[in-house]
Amino acid sequence: MCGISGIWSPADADPTEATRLMFFALYALQHRGQESAGIAATDGRDLRVVRRMGLVGQVFSEPDLAVLGGRAAIGHTRYSTTGSSRIQNAQPMVVNADIGELAIAHNGNCINARDLRDELAAQGVRFATSSDTEVVAQMIAAEDGATWDERIVRALPKLRGAWSLVMLTPTAVYAVRDPLGVRPLCLGRKGDAWLVASETCALDTIGAAFVRDVAPGEVLRIDDRGATGIADFAADRRGLCVFEHVYLASASSDLGGVSVYATRERMGETLAEEHPAAADVVIPVPDSAIPAAVGYARRSGIPFREGLIKNRYIGRTFIQPSPELRKQGVALKYNALRDVLQDKRVVVVDDSIVRGSTSAPIVDLLRGHGAREVHLRICSPPIRHQCFFGVDMARRDELIASHLDVEAIRRHVGADSLGYLSLDGMVRATGGTTGELCTACFTGDYLVPVQLELAKEALET
Ligand code: SF4
Repeated sequence: MCGISGIWSPADADPTEATRLMFFALYALQHRGQESAGIAATDGRDLRVVRRMGLVGQVFSEPDLAVLGGRAAIGHTRYSTTGSSRIQNAQPMVVNADIGELAIAHNGNCINARDLRDELAAQGVRFATSSDTEVVAQMIAAEDGATWDERIVRALPKLRGAWSLVMLTPTAVYAVRDPLGVRPLCLGRKGDAWLVASETCALDTIGAAFVRDVAPGEVLRIDDRGATGIADFAADRRGLCVFEHVYLASASSDLGGVSVYATRERMGETLAEEHPAAADVVIPVPDSAIPAAVGYARRSGIPFREGLIKNRYIGRTFIQPSPELRKQGVALKYNALRDVLQDKRVVVVDDSIVRGSTSAPIVDLLRGHGAREVHLRICSPPIRHQCFFGVDMARRDELIASHLDVEAIRRHVGADSLGYLSLDGMVRATGGTTGELCTACFTGDYLVPVQLELAKEALET
């Protein structure tokens, strides 16, 4: 996960405008990471950074935005995949090189970061964090070249895995996607300012117009001359993470020009065709499964209702519940509506089952509020394989579908029936093909060779 954004505004713009826009762009990307947030900004001379643990609204104050100032900025919301959740690993990170400073913010996971770090350490580079992002930054800083353009273009082909990056120097913003385009990144304009962001919802929030997606393997430099491609490392196929469509991206975003909301509705429609149920009501597990439940209801003719209300403020809290409260489980997160559920045969639509630890309590919660039957429908196939490309799902042995078949999972979660969307149905709903998407957590078909089980803390020293 993680959300990233970059802004380059014209020389005559209000000097606080870039950081103010960045603040609201990060708000729009909050769903991609809630552990920490940060902004690096420049006035053309040096870089200033504010980054702290917490949500965007908690991290930045009005004085912070005034101190940051600047006509260009990059920003980050973090969900840790490599490196633990602590302030040293918050982004953007800044490295100093003989040619100046570079700030960097990263969405993805570099699967060869350990090897690259060992090589750099052998050259005498010292690391302050356990994050693969610092490895990328130090690798670029240590490259040969008289300019950041040259160093970036030399360094990036050494990276393996998934990486969308934004970088900032006193004279330019850079925006990059890995050769497969695993993580999204799009380009927009607001007046004379240029923007990049993980998702189009960030452009919408700040009133910017979508220009195009940054292409897989593209390296863009953005400055007063505009957005200029300085290198193209595209692979011979594409590999956008299909889980962006299923769960990660905001339903209000477009991915590859396709509405995420409409894709999820189509997933629900196909799910209704593949796994019909005799039921009285269709409800979603909010929020990500709402459009799929709408699609299921429309195709099946069964009425859509809201049967679970999500507490939007519980999120990823840093205050751990007491053991007593932990037993409450999903009840801390969802309230069930007895009026909707009482004596009903209920189809409940969810986006995915990872460990299976949430589905069973949801089924219990529905039965506890009067549901007579619970038919669980999942708008993605069983997740049987670990993700190495930036989604912190679970280790393979923790994935329930890696060791149980569908009937055994149904018994485990206590549903009356269980149906998963087929791989073909999921891919068709995106409007793409398996040749354009990463589907590795469902199929085990990794697009980049994965040789070792990378633990999240693999770079901890
Ligand atoms: S393995 Fe799954 S979650 Fe990871 S990038 Fe591929 S499709 Fe996305």
